Amino acid sequence: MSERERSGGFDLTRRSVLQTAGAAAVATSLGGCLSGGDDPAAESDIAEETAYGNCWMCHHACGQQLTVRDGTAVDITGVDEHPRGSAGPGTDGTLCPKGQSELEKLYDPDRITQPYIREDGDLREADWDEAFEYAARRLEEFDEEHGAETFLDATSWSTTNVHSYFWGNLYGTPERIGRGRHVCFGGPHLSGNLMGLGTNMRFVDYQHSDYIIAWGRNVFESFAGQWEPKGVLEALDDGATLVVVDPQHTPTAQKADHWLPIEPRTDGALALAMGHVIVEEELYDEAFVEEQTHGFDAYREAVDDKTPEWAEDVTGIDAGLIREIAIGFAEAAPAAGIAAWTGVGQYAESQKASQNIFALHGLVGNIDRPGGFRMWQGPPLQPNPFEERGIDLPTNAAEETPALRKYDEYDEYPFRHTTGIGHTVVPEMVDNGHIMGMVNHYDNPLTDGSTQAWLEAIEQMDLVITIDAYWNELTRNADIVFPEAIQLEKDTLIDYAPSWSAYEDRTWLTASRAVHEPMGECKSGYEIYRGLAEELGWGEYFPWEDEAEYSDDLLANVDYTFDEIADQNFVLLDEFEYEQWEDGGFPTATGKFQFDLDEEGGYAQSAEELGIDTAPEWIPPGTWGEEPDDEYPLHFYDTRSVFFSFGADQPLEHLQEQYARKHDLENTEYRGNYLVINPRDAEERGIETGDMVTVEARAGEADDEAMAYVSERTRPGFVTAEFGFGTGNSHEEGMNTMTVHDMQHDPVSSQVDRHLAAEVRKNGGD
Ligand code: SF4
Repeated sequence: MSERERSGGFDLTRRSVLQTAGAAAVATSLGGCLSGGDDPAAESDIAEETAYGNCWMCHHACGQQLTVRDGTAVDITGVDEHPRGSAGPGTDGTLCPKGQSELEKLYDPDRITQPYIREDGDLREADWDEAFEYAARRLEEFDEEHGAETFLDATSWSTTNVHSYFWGNLYGTPERIGRGRHVCFGGPHLSGNLMGLGTNMRFVDYQHSDYIIAWGRNVFESFAGQWEPKGVLEALDDGATLVVVDPQHTPTAQKADHWLPIEPRTDGALALAMGHVIVEEELYDEAFVEEQTHGFDAYREAVDDKTPEWAEDVTGIDAGLIREIAIGFAEAAPAAGIAAWTGVGQYAESQKASQNIFALHGLVGNIDRPGGFRMWQGPPLQPNPFEERGIDLPTNAAEETPALRKYDEYDEYPFRHTTGIGHTVVPEMVDNGHIMGMVNHYDNPLTDGSTQAWLEAIEQMDLVITIDAYWNELTRNADIVFPEAIQLEKDTLIDYAPSWSAYEDRTWLTASRAVHEPMGECKSGYEIYRGLAEELGWGEYFPWEDEAEYSDDLLANVDYTFDEIADQNFVLLDEFEYEQWEDGGFPTATGKFQFDLDEEGGYAQSAEELGIDTAPEWIPPGTWGEEPDDEYPLHFYDTRSVFFSFGADQPLEHLQEQYARKHDLENTEYRGNYLVINPRDAEERGIETGDMVTVEARAGEADDEAMAYVSERTRPGFVTAEFGFGTGNSHEEGMNTMTVHDMQHDPVSSQVDRHLAAEVRKNGGD
């Protein structure tokens, strides 16, 4: 019996599902704008304290205000006027369902709260001294036998620079995978960077916008901090037009002036057709194009024959509507913006699709202008806090050539010119002996490449260390498990240069102190690395007593100390202007916004190897991804909801309940994800909501099963499942595309392809 069952949880062996009468799906999804937490002892006379936290249930760091009663955190809500959690001055701070569930996470009895080391094939509990000593010895042996350069550093969004200093600068591994670039938005990340928009500039200056296109972006469900949906709602109140490009009728699509139910993976065609109309109608910003861009002639040629009528055949969107949207967007510019991120970033042709979309920004000249595509600025943190202590930090990783660029075995991967390794190539690198061990921080890379291939790769590795709060397939198979405190148990300055926010012209910082003692034997990340460093003889590189002291050195260029920021949770810093390109140009090879990437050497090499253009171009679906056929007739996609980000939040009860409610279900027992299937496809297969189903794809049949949810929310011919499930967490069941994946990716950006061709069948008798 699991700890959850012992604690009055659920019977995991029997599945049942009750359909509720119209549970409010939209209300649930907009629960992001609610505050949370019950207050059962509100009438009591026990002294209460107010404390602050910062949410890391996703990496947007909304401020958290906590009520602590007698040492126990009993209530959690947002921080008013917080840059990420509110709509700005004079507005309430709120938390989304994930943020609301952080108290449950804090007190979750199933967290990892003890170090573990593997002995005689099994993990056993260890104390910290033993765990540090064992890890240091294994790391030294690994370096002697395989070389530290074959040790992979797998990071998450909650990974701080201290982690990178340890593994990169000190241990010396150049091999790194992380979230974002190859997991969520590989194409937009690469295209945005090369075209001059930066890698981190995803969001519209919503509050000043007259025309917002949410392109594959469900801003009312999968927001980037609470400020995002609030900014869109403010714009709508002020009369802005909202266009949603999305195959699914999401809560955002339900609020849109125009919903474009596009044929999946045809975003690039729609963007080219819009560009065709804007050029043909001479609605583009001639001065901006002339003075600030590179490659317009190639762009004009690329869109010349891409008429709305051509695009209607490809995208399924009416040509007249394409023309109307293109004209509306261009006429509203520069106060018009496109939010495109994960929705257009997770299939095999996503780099070129996002290049086609981002070209529209250059065309209408909305870049870094009010209401357009904002080039957000982060605070001026000290990039090298070691300087403040007179410490010369080694650069061991910088002296190594990553295997992807060093060995001929990887010549078939054009993305080696443009990015580091992607999740899908790691198992092959293990097979080749170029990766022999890894450290994983607070993530589960098995959700971002073929789960089976990753499991086999982990089996082959000589040393696997993980630092996490929850059990999953990786932590269960590790040699050493370090339990890291969660956000509410440690002092934290959010140090990853936060930028986009409700304050469109101010940089800002947010920080919080530990609200609660770490559970069990948990330590903060800083304490873990300092302990391990001391054991390895690197103690001199950890001179700071604690995170607060370390943060003060990061703040050397700012007029605030850690304590001063943590006292009020956030501070606003310097103002920054619009049109920042006026002075400094764009951070590209030509110093201009680039329609054509011909001057970007690495990209040009990749394009040549793939036989594609460096300019915008239509790359049809199936060029690198899969297409359905008679044997596997369904498109199978991963989707994301507001409730889950990665393995660390899927076990939480509050989120599971909200997830069921969103589907109009009262699901009291089944703990996994749903396979959403259209009624037509379900009927053909004899499937009803609540049936357990198995998915088959070319790479094989899923070992795990999912529960069918029959709904018009997915179109005929398409089935979807939630990202991240089915990977060994103690409460998860179910599967997603990674369970039956065959290592497909975008060859330019290495983004894992979360689309497959598949067949679904009802399981017998359950
Ligand atoms: S959007 Fe939600 S999960 Fe993300 S930081 Fe804010 S409250 Fe937390």
